This record gives sequence, structure tokens and C-alpha cells, in this order.
Amino acid sequence: MVKLKIEKLGSAKRFGARYGRKPKYEFAKIEKEQRKRHKCPYCNNVAVKRIAMGIWHCRKCDAKFTGKAYTIAKPIMTEAVPGEKTEEIPEEIGEDAEEGA
Ligand SMILES: [Zn+2]
Repeated sequence: MVKLKIEKLGSAKRFGARYGRKPKYEFAKIEKEQRKRHKCPYCNNVAVKRIAMGIWHCRKCDAKFTGKAYTIAKPIMTEAVPGEKTEEIPEEIGEDAEEGA
């Protein structure tokens, strides 16, 4: 039996057949990150939940702090965006030139 690749729509299933495949897939990725429990930067327990956009609350140590809108700190997108490379430092000419060695 051939297994077909099933995209994990998760919470985006609530949209049914609407809005298209890719936007729903992207939305599901973000909402999954938003709703999961995060690691607390204060007590290191995985007990931080989002209470509002950018506001996070730890259920263990009762810390309430700001973060990103949908995640605590690290960006979800790890793919490199083409054309957004850091500026290359031009090679220094003349200093390391080994002449007559
Ligand atoms: Zn905590």
C-alpha cells in the first residue's frame, strides 16, 4: 500500500475546504508554535503559555513577560531568504601578500 504524504493541518482543519492549501499549512505551523508550551527563561520549566499577543506567562514560577507575538524568542522560519545575505567584507589587499618568500 502506498502511503500518501498527508500535510498536517492541525488546528487549521477548522477552516474546512476554504482558503487554500498553502495558507492553511503556513497558518497551522504558526499556530502550533503559538499554542504549545514553551520553556521558561526564568525557571527553565516547559510551562510557558501565551496569554495575549506577545505576552507570555509561566505556570510554574508565575512570571509574566513579553516575547514575540507567536513564539517566545527564536524565529520559526529557519530557511535562508535568498537575497538577504550579510554584507561580505572585502578582502584586505596587500597585508597578507607574501612576496619573495
Ligand atoms: Zn518559569
